[in-house]
Amino acid sequence: MLRIGCHLSSTKGFLHMARTAASIGAGTFQFFTRNPRGGAAKDWDPADVEAMLDYMEKENIASPLAHAPYTLNACGKEERVREFALLTMADDLKRLEMIPGVMYNFHPGSHVGQGSERGIELIADVLNRCMWPEMHTTVLLETMAGKGSEVGRSFEELRSIIDRVALPEKLGVCLDTCHVWDGGYDIAGHLEEVLEEFDRVVGLDRLKAIHINDSLNPCGAHKDRHEKIGQGYIGLEAFGRIVSHPRLRSLPFYLETPNELDGYQAEIALLKGLAG
Ligand code: FE
Ligand code: FE
Ligand code: ZN
Repeated sequence: MLRIGCHLSSTKGFLHMARTAASIGAGTFQFFTRNPRGGAAKDWDPADVEAMLDYMEKENIASPLAHAPYTLNACGKEERVREFALLTMADDLKRLEMIPGVMYNFHPGSHVGQGSERGIELIADVLNRCMWPEMHTTVLLETMAGKGSEVGRSFEELRSIIDRVALPEKLGVCLDTCHVWDGGYDIAGHLEEVLEEFDRVVGLDRLKAIHINDSLNPCGAHKDRHEKIGQGYIGLEAFGRIVSHPRLRSLPFYLETPNELDGYQAEIALLKGLAG
């Protein structure tokens, strides 16, 4: 069956998050490792994490996805911006060793005028300084919409980052449907071709997760404004093909649509229905 969930708030703790997922019919969920605008994370309570893991096993909830604060910029222009990204990611990755099977998703960054090639070097450098051979978490690069100077707007840019990382076996990609659409990949009209291109450039074996969001804007708009499933430019039919595609349907799906819990519950049921 389709493993689908949504982004959840972690402010009431880990067990609470897993209970919330179960209450809306989710088989997985995503959460921020700390305040999404960055800053210090409070200590994680190991007993709460354990309780979450037990509960998840009982309720068949798996593949939790930790999302780094989106204000991190591993390829910022100023040294202190990059240093902050490094320290935050290193701290997140250490904490995540408490959660077996978790993956860690982050936005590669914005090169702010330095050029994407320089951006790619700086991102790989941060990864090489915060990953270690014995770590258990898979780190995911998120596909980006190409807003401003975002790096990761094309499959080629993601591939270039992966090529520069010393532990590539611990790296994967999270495909955000709104972002790739806004980035110019027509997943509504030409899903097969887009997946072939992804396979040729990055390799489908690197695709580990899908952020499933409709887009408020047409393909190639480079805007990154999420819309509810079926209410944007990508459209419901395309999502039916995405969740039932043989190369995608066994991946975990995470909604980041503009919804409250009841809206997520309805979208989860809708997409499970479309997946058959
Ligand atoms: Fe994201
Ligand atoms: Fe996303
Ligand atoms: Zn987005």
